Amino acid sequence: MRLVLKYGGTSISSAKKIKDIAKHINSLSKKNQILIVCSAINGITDDLIEKHHLIKKGKKENAKRLTEKIIQRHKLLAKETILNAKIEKDLLNDLDSDFTELVALIDGMVLLGEVTPRSLDYLISFGERLSIKIVSAALLDQEIKSVPFTGKEVGIVTDSNFGESRPLMDTTRLRVSKTVDSLFAKKIIPVVGGFAGADQHGRVTTFGRGGSDYTATTLATCIRADEIWLMSDVDGLMTADPKFVKNAKILKQVSYVEAIEMSLFGAKQIHPRTFEPLLTKKIPMRIRNTFNLKNEGTLITASPDADTKKTVKCVSTIRHSALIDVGGGSMVGTPGTAAKIFTTLAKAGVNVMMISQNPSESSITIVVKNTDLDKAVNSLEMELLGKTIKKLEVTTNVAIIALIGSGMRGTIGVASRVFGAVTKKKVNVVVITQGSSELHLAFVVKDSDCKSAVNALHDEFELTKTN
Ligand code: ASP
Ligand code: MG
Repeated sequence: MRLVLKYGGTSISSAKKIKDIAKHINSLSKKNQILIVCSAINGITDDLIEKHHLIKKGKKENAKRLTEKIIQRHKLLAKETILNAKIEKDLLNDLDSDFTELVALIDGMVLLGEVTPRSLDYLISFGERLSIKIVSAALLDQEIKSVPFTGKEVGIVTDSNFGESRPLMDTTRLRVSKTVDSLFAKKIIPVVGGFAGADQHGRVTTFGRGGSDYTATTLATCIRADEIWLMSDVDGLMTADPKFVKNAKILKQVSYVEAIEMSLFGAKQIHPRTFEPLLTKKIPMRIRNTFNLKNEGTLITASPDADTKKTVKCVSTIRHSALIDVGGGSMVGTPGTAAKIFTTLAKAGVNVMMISQNPSESSITIVVKNTDLDKAVNSLEMELLGKTIKKLEVTTNVAIIALIGSGMRGTIGVASRVFGAVTKKKVNVVVITQGSSELHLAFVVKDSDCKSAVNALHDEFELTKTN
């Protein structure tokens, strides 16, 4: 089989973990052709982003201290992971040239005192640049031939939309398949950095947070892989958050479209565009636990086996959210009102999770993360209050509950079962939405009601009996 294995940051956060992974790859490589995709080591992308905030605030010394912390963490990890003295020395030399470049970049940014989307992408791509070298050296240490590549080096060409780029698939496919085929012919395992590529001018671009998943599926389609395994620290997609529901079960099979919905809600966060390349190429993907390989995980395909179909497959939650109600008589029958509201929020960098408008058009309800609430209210107040909108009310500490499953489509009575079950628990439902795809039904409750509502729904749809 041709396999793409993607390791998340927590899977490579210690020497022991990296060594274990190398062993696993070694055993798999006897029978398969393998391409590895790695995230940055746990926490490093956050550190790099923090650094950009420090530079913006002119906190030069703090930024430099953070750089030193990043450098020391990688050096220590490299030393602890690699046993062979020659491989360790080569790795440290290799890392040193990246460190020099990173320090120079920080100096330049500090000097200018400004961070552009382009320089930010360049900065935050360093996490993967460093991690792939350590993982690839760990393979060499086990006498497996391996070469590290950044997304740019392996041939991922993107548009120039820094921070949210997309691969130009035709060019990327040509370049990647050429590079990888020649490596496979020599039995070399490529270890590719996720999250980033480069535009046509060779400038580094990133795909947005969590983008290594997207790298994995993009590369898989380029090399016509048979399967993709997303290796992380969870056993798979689940019927509910096990922190809430004691007997939550792992879902054996889900479809791409169900997985897209689940990835937005569940404990396993997957980059939203991850499934895009798979919809046409239909490569099966597995979500597996790096630390529990006995478990088969969740298999995601275009059409799961008939016996795994259920009306509702899971009850997901997004907690720590807030609800904003905007209203006013002047909104009624005025085209462009919604556009103004959402443009204002978009400009402030607020991610809107749920929207509902009543047919009278006199109010719109918007659900955002608690952490975005300040920005959201502030921008709406400054730009629109007293003009487009007359009133603005906020409810904090709410949770979104979403039921997901393609079996809901066309099934009569799902909504009545859902609301019947939560009513029995005396839970008040604040907002309801259902997309016309009928793939999910979502509603908002008080955060303190979330646990009892989720358990009631898990029981109602008998999700413990999931096989
Ligand atoms: N390192 C990047 C992030 O933390 C990409 C990834 O982990 O997938 O967002
Ligand atoms: Mg990740």
